Amino acid sequence: MDFNLTEQQKMIQDTAKDLSLLELSSRAVDTDNTGLFPWDALRALAEADLMGMLLPPAYGGGGADLLSYVIAVEELAKGCTNTALVFVTHLAAAHGVLVGGSEELKKELLPVLAQGKRLAAWAATEANAGSNVLAVETSAKSDGNNYIVNGSKVYITSAEEAEYYVTVARTSPAPGPTGLSALLINKETAGFSTGRRFLRMGMNGTSSGELFFNDCKVDKKNLLGKEGGYMPVGMAMATIGLLGVAAIALGVSQASLDLCLKYGKERVINGQPLGNYQGVQFLVSEMSVAVDATRALLYSAAVAQQNPQPGLPIAAFKAKLFATETALQVTDKALQMHGGTGYTKELPLERYYRDVRGLTLHFSPTEPLKETLGKALMGLLP
Ligand SMILES: Cc1cc2nc3c(=O)[nH]c(=O)nc-3n(C[C@H](O)[C@H](O)[C@H](O)COP(=O)(O)OP(=O)(O)OC[C@H]3O[C@@H](n4cnc5c(N)ncnc54)[C@H](O)[C@@H]3O)c2cc1C
Repeated sequence: MDFNLTEQQKMIQDTAKDLSLLELSSRAVDTDNTGLFPWDALRALAEADLMGMLLPPAYGGGGADLLSYVIAVEELAKGCTNTALVFVTHLAAAHGVLVGGSEELKKELLPVLAQGKRLAAWAATEANAGSNVLAVETSAKSDGNNYIVNGSKVYITSAEEAEYYVTVARTSPAPGPTGLSALLINKETAGFSTGRRFLRMGMNGTSSGELFFNDCKVDKKNLLGKEGGYMPVGMAMATIGLLGVAAIALGVSQASLDLCLKYGKERVINGQPLGNYQGVQFLVSEMSVAVDATRALLYSAAVAQQNPQPGLPIAAFKAKLFATETALQVTDKALQMHGGTGYTKELPLERYYRDVRGLTLHFSPTEPLKETLGKALMGLLP
């Protein structure tokens, strides 16, 4: 498929491809096995000026468009899904500061985030509030020029390593979204601490953990958007997150298909290459159509979201839903086609399989995503 990429988009694609091959893929197995945070890979991304690729040049960013971003994430995910998810999270959180922060905050913080000198995270999920963000209990009570924040978060990517957390907190008991605000909280704030690090099925190097806020005094200058105005900031961040997660799923699906096409030619069964069997031809043709369809939907969503309409980022919702569910099927088929070898750690397939499993859960799981999309299509949303 030819997407008529511009020279700039092709350049970003080549940069990400080289990084993925040279810096990320060699470390991916270690990152998965040890669960250590992929700092070296992130430094390589910073040196290639990618950590602020979506931020405007005025704030030290690369000013790239969303299509360049998904293309870059797709390539990075082929090398290391953990690095790709930390990268996506960092850019999503930085975007929250861009759309909601004061000029002073943006000038102070965004160049630092763009250079990758500091890492940003997005802290929404709580023990009693996951897919339903409206159930967030972490409170931010007004106290003069400050908010006093109390509560906790779970499953936060880069929990220990980030310096800045775009945190969803309740600033009023008003029901619905008007009770919620986005606050930027620095890890040096007194009363802030990190807790458990969760051991998980996959995405082992993303440092999924707990955050605690115990009478954290947060200057009101760190409010992103208006008080009670979390939703516009949250939706802007979600757009970057959803497209990014979809791009990770696409990169993994493509990498799985590539391995299958190679294996189909190399593996001989009963005197014939595996790919000569019709059952296997069916498998790879299904995978190839799925990968192409994902790419077409995701790239068009990235173009559509470049000039977002008010309301929900529907195109990003659709791309995330399709890409992540499709990646589950593609990695499953790829593993099956590789027989016992696919189940070993000699190949990345079992890791891909475990990693993409988390993507249907993150940034809105499949079911609430479908429900919201369905309501939007039926005209049932306010
Ligand atoms: C890899 C990974 C990285 C993550 N990183 C972050 C991060 O950086 N920051 C952050 O804040 N969070 C993060 N999370 C948490 C993630 O966003 C939540 O897990 C997610 O929002 C779901 O919330 P929950 O786990 O509480 O599930 P729940 O909301 O309890 O849902 C449980 C089940 O119920 C289903 N369900 C929910 N609503 C409906 C409905 N209306 N109809 C039918 N079924 C429904 C869900 O689909 C799910 O299957 C991460 C999670 C993963 C897996």
